[in-house]
This record gives sequence, C-alpha cells and structure tokens, in this order.
Amino acid sequence: FAAFSRAMSKSGERTFLAVKPDGVQRGLVGDIISRFEKRGYKLVALKLQQVSEDHLRKHYADLKGKPFFEGLVKFMASGPLVAMVWEGLDVVKQGRAMLGETNPLASKPGSIRGDYSIDMGRNICHGSDSVESAKKEIELWFDAKDLCDYKKANDVWVYE
Ligand code: GDP
Ligand code: MG
Repeated sequence: FAAFSRAMSKSGERTFLAVKPDGVQRGLVGDIISRFEKRGYKLVALKLQQVSEDHLRKHYADLKGKPFFEGLVKFMASGPLVAMVWEGLDVVKQGRAMLGETNPLASKPGSIRGDYSIDMGRNICHGSDSVESAKKEIELWFDAKDLCDYKKANDVWVYE
C-alpha cells in the first residue's frame, strides 16, 4: 500500500489530448490511444464528438487573429474528433513530446506527427502546451463528473 500511495502522489498531472478530425478519418484513433496506454499513462476521460465553431473559438482563443485561425476552427468543426484526458507524471510535457512539433516537417519520426503527418493544418492531434492550459482545456471540454477517478493496478510497475 505504501508503494501504491507513493506512485499515486507522483502521477496526478493531467493533460487534454484530442485526435483531430483528420486523425479520426485516417483511422489513427486506436494507435494514438495505444501509444499513451503503452507509455504507462492513465486514461481519465474520452469522447467522440463533433463540436461547434463557437466551442473551438474558445479552445483556440489564444490564436485569434492568426491568419490560419478561421481555417483551423472550420476544419476542427468539420467532423468528429476524439477528446481525451490523460493522467500521469509530467504528462503535459511528455504528451507534447509524443505528439511532435506543431510543424510536421520539424517532427521527428517516432512522434505521432512525425510518423503520420506532412502539413501543419492537418497534424492529426492536439495536446495542451502547459499545466495551466491543460486545466482550462479540461474544464472547457469535460464536466467534472466525466473525469474518472480510479487507480490502475499496474502503477506500482510504472512508477518507482
Ligand atoms: P500546437 O499547440 O502544436 O497544436 O500548435 P498551436 O497551438 O500553435 O496551433 C494550433 C494548431 O493550428 C496547430 O496544431 C496547427 O494545426 C495549426 N497551425 C499552427 N500554426 C499554423 C500555421 O502557420 N499554418 C497553418 N495552416 N496552421 C497552423
Ligand atoms: Mg497549442
């Protein structure tokens, strides 16, 4: 039990990840979920959902005014996406590393964007860029009641 609570205390950080409509269309949902599962992270919430442009304007509020903003919002609203919350040690930073860079050209093979995408406006996935924005994004996308609070039995094999 001592090992279990020690593992729990290290691993409480959460991030918001989404498989964008291009990732859903291209059949990459399972692969992306699998990468985070295999890494050892815990899935806390998940839904397939087509959201409004209004919702996406809130999600991408910090990009308002960028030349690609309108296209981005329309694209993200064009089909269902998979919204998820993942939990674990340094999951925000590690999640970004697993995604790759915003520009697929700069994304290393082995990362999601580096393996599956070519163009910046079709880069497959979203991940929160800081603990602060993760909090905001999780609040925007999920009701508190939809975040599952549970223990994973194998955490003692994932965390020292
Ligand atoms: P992210 O956090 O890596 O997703 O990147 P940003 O938050 O800066 O931008 C959000 C999304 O807008 C990116 O994932 C891209 O899909 C898109 N985007 C960012 N910069 C550009 C750009 O210069 N051109 C185009 N077409 N899309 C962009
Ligand atoms: Mg971003």
